[in-house]
Amino acid sequence: MGQVAFFPVRRAGLVSILFAFFCALPMFAGAAADPGFEKWKKEFRAKAMKEGITAETFDRAFKGIDSPDQWVLDKASYQPEFKAPVWQYFDNRITKFAVQRGKAKKKELKPWLDKIEQQSGVNPNILLAIWSMESSFGAILDNKTVMRSVVRSLATLAYADPKRKKFGTSQLLAALKILQSGDIDESHLTGSWAGAMGHTQFIPTSYQAYAVDMDGDGKRDIWNSVPDALATAANLLKKNGWVSGQTWGYEVTIPERKLPGGKLKISEWEKLGVKRVGGKSFPRPDDMAELKVLAGRKGPAFLMLKNFFVIKRYNNSDRYAAAVGILADQIGGAAPLSKDWKRPFTKLEADEVMELQTKLKEKGFYDGEIDGKAGGGTRKAILKFEEEAGVELQGFPSKEVLELLRKN
Ligand code: CA
Repeated sequence: MGQVAFFPVRRAGLVSILFAFFCALPMFAGAAADPGFEKWKKEFRAKAMKEGITAETFDRAFKGIDSPDQWVLDKASYQPEFKAPVWQYFDNRITKFAVQRGKAKKKELKPWLDKIEQQSGVNPNILLAIWSMESSFGAILDNKTVMRSVVRSLATLAYADPKRKKFGTSQLLAALKILQSGDIDESHLTGSWAGAMGHTQFIPTSYQAYAVDMDGDGKRDIWNSVPDALATAANLLKKNGWVSGQTWGYEVTIPERKLPGGKLKISEWEKLGVKRVGGKSFPRPDDMAELKVLAGRKGPAFLMLKNFFVIKRYNNSDRYAAAVGILADQIGGAAPLSKDWKRPFTKLEADEVMELQTKLKEKGFYDGEIDGKAGGGTRKAILKFEEEAGVELQGFPSKEVLELLRKN
């Protein structure tokens, strides 16, 4: 999906960015560099020296950086209009495309994945799922609008975002240490607005704790080396207690009655009427597990094992860890969940969501990416279209809306 479909959008994006840039130029030319930022930089430079950063590293890192990045501040203050409902979260992450790409990458990278599994004990499917979730198998790293100078982004947060001052400062110090180590040079030290870097999106302090040089070129390069990035993710999971040879959890059916919270032995859950789907048995009845229903009792239910909680060390969210696990299983050939997420409309496949986004864009309702993921921007555009079409306002990426768009 990504490459071809992104292309025209990215070009359009670039044109509008350049246009905005040239329009803004006279203003820039008239204004001096931000004096508050310069003052902050001077103070931060002294602090960095005390932390063992050399003047050479600091000045190299900050070359050409004389103002905060407004785009980063906009991202930092963005409040999503919709809290993503569960169906939206999973529909956008567990796609046919992600499963197909995961399977193809698994073949392509088999020798590396085998080696990483030998070293860490982490199942390759889990690493492929994390890679998909974090960067769409590296596709987002090509997006220059989203991937920016880590030094400038973190300096912006440290200087101008009171809520993230502490985070920005500590991450920026770590970023300077990474530069000083020689693992990457300043022009390639790129990341998200919050400083998440490379194929597996590590922030600088996590990079320092877990980064691995898997391919043996002497650099821990999670930006350009997929083996390094996947081994780094595996190392994080291993160091946080990954249990080798075990899965993350099981999809289960639950009885009508009220069930306890917390961890119980699987055999105890079985006594309470919890069953594995498809008539399968649990391989280790003594494992401790916690019951999770992420979308109410009518939706899919799971018994989560230790590894589910280890995945949460990557990103502390039940939805995230479950999506990694479910996607990993499907990359490994498992069937989709026995129950679908409850969804108040007929679901579209990712290519149909792209058609929907394209049509909304053609009609002037949508100006975001054509990425097959219906997030807040797409749903807002659907609402505008529904309003103009005079139909019930729902904002769902549904078959019904796509058909209406095809007719209009
Ligand atoms: Ca390397």
